[in-house]
Amino acid sequence: MTNNNPPVCDYEGSDYQKSFWDQGGREYEDRTEAIALKRLLPKSGRLMLELGAGAGRNTPRYVGFERIVLLDYSRTQLEQAQQRLGTSDKYIYVAADVYRLPFVDGLFDGATMIRVLHHMSDAPKALGQVKQVLGPGGTFILEFANKLNLKAILRYWLGKQKWSPFTLEPVEFVELNFDFHPQAVFNWLRELGFNTEKVLTVSHFRMGFLKRVVPTSVLVFFDSIFQWTGALFQWTPSVFVKSVVGGTSSGHHSLTSIFKCPKCGSANLLEKKEYLECTNCKSKWELKNGIYDFREPI
Ligand SMILES: [Zn+2]
Repeated sequence: MTNNNPPVCDYEGSDYQKSFWDQGGREYEDRTEAIALKRLLPKSGRLMLELGAGAGRNTPRYVGFERIVLLDYSRTQLEQAQQRLGTSDKYIYVAADVYRLPFVDGLFDGATMIRVLHHMSDAPKALGQVKQVLGPGGTFILEFANKLNLKAILRYWLGKQKWSPFTLEPVEFVELNFDFHPQAVFNWLRELGFNTEKVLTVSHFRMGFLKRVVPTSVLVFFDSIFQWTGALFQWTPSVFVKSVVGGTSSGHHSLTSIFKCPKCGSANLLEKKEYLECTNCKSKWELKNGIYDFREPI
């Protein structure tokens, strides 16, 4: 298999949940995201893949789904998610690289990727992996950071920013932090065979002084109305896209064999007590404290 995988932004050991969300003044962003998700999520589903689940902030919002796979590159983020959500059959915790997903093709009927594409130096490759593991009729909810936002446009016009918000290529404004042009994202999704059904713009009022002066509930209310303008134009820092894979779901897929070896692609993995062993290439993938680890074989 390839060793030329794009670099991964690793949140290992990070207190991101606490410093960014819980104490970072991000209630407005969190609540507007919840509204967007509610508007885009299918009413029900069998198996959801949450890519970049982190500490599980959004996971309880996937209410209609029977089971949820929380995937993150960082083990410590998944441990925080375990503490938040508990260990039950409903949640499957997986440490893995988005560029080498360890799942058999067509497995999921839903997938979300929120605040994750932001860290992808090869976005089309990551999106292609998602397409591969979604079954016919599967729903994909993608959030991306928008380079064509009003603040970037103004800064560009005032000469305070060198890069153009109007061109299709991503901008890496900090190492492994990328903003994308909406049209570029729509093009990638279409080329991969997704049909885009809905676009919502989120965080219209992500401005420090507004967040200080105006009550959060008021900002959230107006954002929830403005989200619908995303169907027409996208000038916010955050954009949500709901896309669907063509075809209709066969309705059943065995949950006993959801994994494939990310090294050789074989779906023949033997489950041992503390690892899964690939019968083809003999790689062993750790299973420890309820977390499957497909980052590097043991
Ligand atoms: Zn293998």
